[in-house]
Amino acid sequence: MASDTIERTPLESWIALKLGVSGERLRREHVERYQLERLRRTVEWAHRHGRFYRRLRMGAKHAESLQGSRPRERDLLDLASLADLRLLPFTTALDLRERGPELLCVSQDDVRRVVTLDSSGTTGTPKRLYFTADDQELTVDFFRVGMSTLTAPGDRVSILLPGAVPGSVGDLLALALRRSGVTPIPHGFVRDLPAAVDLLRRERPTALVGVPVQVLALARYAEEVAGESFRLKSVLLASDHVPDSIVRELTRAWGCQVFEHYGMTEMGLGGGVDCEAHAGYHLREADLYVEIVDPLTGEPLPEGVRGEVVFTTLTRRGMPLVRYRTGDLSRFLPGPCPCGTVLRRLERVRGRLAGQTVDVTMPELDEALFAVPGVVDFAVVASRDPSSLAITMWSLRPARHGVEGAVHEALDQVPAICAARRAGTLSVTVSTACVGERLPRGPEKRTIAEGQATVRK
Ligand SMILES: [Zn+2]
Repeated sequence: MASDTIERTPLESWIALKLGVSGERLRREHVERYQLERLRRTVEWAHRHGRFYRRLRMGAKHAESLQGSRPRERDLLDLASLADLRLLPFTTALDLRERGPELLCVSQDDVRRVVTLDSSGTTGTPKRLYFTADDQELTVDFFRVGMSTLTAPGDRVSILLPGAVPGSVGDLLALALRRSGVTPIPHGFVRDLPAAVDLLRRERPTALVGVPVQVLALARYAEEVAGESFRLKSVLLASDHVPDSIVRELTRAWGCQVFEHYGMTEMGLGGGVDCEAHAGYHLREADLYVEIVDPLTGEPLPEGVRGEVVFTTLTRRGMPLVRYRTGDLSRFLPGPCPCGTVLRRLERVRGRLAGQTVDVTMPELDEALFAVPGVVDFAVVASRDPSSLAITMWSLRPARHGVEGAVHEALDQVPAICAARRAGTLSVTVSTACVGERLPRGPEKRTIAEGQATVRK
């Protein structure tokens, strides 16, 4: 392994600086000591200022009595070790929806930005996240260092994420890049493919940041329809899980290195980014404490075992989150990263099981279906009684004769689908549509929709 040619993630020296470690190499003990101290402060802050978090006291006592220890006035803020965190109750997406304002720990005057997340497919109130100016500064600082993994001063980065609103992800990213001497080229989500190709032609970026399916569509449109070949140094994919099939296609089309970002608004937009080894995300461990728990029992899982990603914010004041359940499935990869850092590595997030029809995840479908030439997006509706999947494929041009056959062949590469079809317990219908020049859907996280067998749109 050519580890001497792989740059160590810049997150390590940045985190060392934040922890006040200088004159020696950062060690896990440094990180863990800091995290424990910060967890105590976060829990104390949240408990004192957020109405919702008064439950933390009850949670701690309840857990203690469950463990059969002698009842006593134990101070909930006195987490004796990182492992004690498991005594505290989770915060869920439902809590955010239904009791959002009670999680707020500062006055409205101190709130710089409110992000409203309209989760598609669910009814009821949306999630709202509140950030102070300091909270936003933490994000900008993370973006600055994270982007230095894949850019250098003098580079030009096309930002295919929304940035018109102050404090939006594209806006903070542009701010971060400027601080490193990198020129941001704001664009917004890719909707109009010719316009996006035009941007690449005109601005000649050295790198770009965007949503996986949108960037794939752009690459395929540029090559197959516009007849343009671009070379890029690097691409960062963000906002959704990243299929290998998309990474392979972008690497081929643009000759670029493809990096992946893991994050969500709840994390303060940024969570982690992989290094040149592309062997898992390195996390902003000075700002987030990440656990992996059993999705059913809620018990923390050991390194290497896949479960639900849960995080606690370590530095946010506006709306700290204590043990927030993300719904994402992943695990900590055992062993050191080839880049030689002491930071942990979170495996590429796999999404969660969706649809009871067949045991298949969206990332598995992504791997299979984006490998079909010309495909730029697809939607899946899973139904029961009888079990079926209705798949709509979008391609750049009117579907060639035989493309549906290619799609069925690709679907048989997914073990669960292949097995269910052979057993005669699953039917799959495929329809195709042509996107022309405009992408068919918004940038929301792509999931398997639940439907009724008789209803097909
Ligand atoms: Zn690494």
